[in-house]
Amino acid sequence: MKLGVIGYGNAGGKIADRLLQFEEQTHRNLTRAVIAINSAKVDLERLEHIPRENRFLVGQTDERVKGHGVGGDPDLGAEITRQDQYEIDRALDRVPVYDIGGFLIIAGLGGGTGSGGAPELAEHIRETYEEPVYGLGILPAEEEGGRAALNAARSLQAFTQATDNLVLFDNHAWRGSEDSVVGGFDRTNTEIVKRVVTLLSAGEIDGSRISENAMDSGDIRRTMATGGVSTIAYAETALGTEERDAGLLGRFREQNSRATANGADAGTRVSGLIRQAVQSRLTCPAAVDSAERSLIVVSGPPEAFSRKGLEKGRQWLERETDSAEVLAGDDPRDGARTLSAVVLLSNVTDVPRVKQLQQQAIMAQRSIKERETTRADEIQALITDDGNELEPL
Ligand code: GDP
Repeated sequence: MKLGVIGYGNAGGKIADRLLQFEEQTHRNLTRAVIAINSAKVDLERLEHIPRENRFLVGQTDERVKGHGVGGDPDLGAEITRQDQYEIDRALDRVPVYDIGGFLIIAGLGGGTGSGGAPELAEHIRETYEEPVYGLGILPAEEEGGRAALNAARSLQAFTQATDNLVLFDNHAWRGSEDSVVGGFDRTNTEIVKRVVTLLSAGEIDGSRISENAMDSGDIRRTMATGGVSTIAYAETALGTEERDAGLLGRFREQNSRATANGADAGTRVSGLIRQAVQSRLTCPAAVDSAERSLIVVSGPPEAFSRKGLEKGRQWLERETDSAEVLAGDDPRDGARTLSAVVLLSNVTDVPRVKQLQQQAIMAQRSIKERETTRADEIQALITDDGNELEPL
């Protein structure tokens, strides 16, 4: 599917930047334009791959912002997005809308600019264009504290409603024990874009051979058309030269309708990889059987594909999700050294992490309100002497 990608806020911009780099490195053909929008000038300047003319600063004329960010305030992030329509429309003008199948808005939901701005932007795009609007929302780790949880839980409500599908990535589930939250972002961002690019670029003709079970971008669109939130599963395996040659031979024999040991191996590998993906860490942990629709893409050199393996994997997922709506297809990548399986579990409704986040958010909201009401009394108690003998000037 061809996309107009917009990274909103700091995390959104960084991930969009990494996505563009990954797309180029893997010779994919996914994006038609990659844009970054932020209220903090320094963050925009730090991006490495998004061209300068595709970076836009919002809220520049607002006294509270002036190019320095919104200080983690999502209400301010939303407000400047509504007010700065001129800059937002200038950014959207960079997207050749006639040539895309959808928009993808990426944002970290625990901060201010992306958290508040991304849902507003999604709403604006939906009112202006016909194309579907997808979101990629990053949930904060628990250690980031109550404020981040509150911002994310509120943004999640608005962002889900404003998009056709919101793919979640949970920083909490992906924080490495040895990494600090910040130190791990580079690695984490690579994991995010690998999944998103492998999934959404399937079906785009970019010089690779067409396979008999090629995924069609219409299938991706259909699977994403559920509304709600989604999660992505992924697994990959490296292919040695020998394996690739063996795969080639196996495929040749399979085509000649002679079942061979190598053909069977390719089938087992493909179906096993699909299973492994679904049983590995999802972008956001969720109960697989709560998905409404799902889609499997097996990506790699056509020699390593197996129609039987793909079908076996598809049937297995159908049973796991207890749903008849499981689509599966190949994404041929000539010369690729890895075989990967990516699975989109669309509209999952059993997502414990979201419930935890909401609990943390409610606690934070209560303590923020309590502190607000007692703050004035505390100031008064501090500046008043114990016997109340002093007169203010
Ligand atoms: P904003 O600029 O006001 O939108 O806020 P940020 O994007 O800086 O931060 C919002 C949230 O995004 C944080 O609470 C983190 O959870 C997350 N975050 C920030 N940077 C990254 C990143 O590079 N990768 C990932 N996965 N998450 C990030």
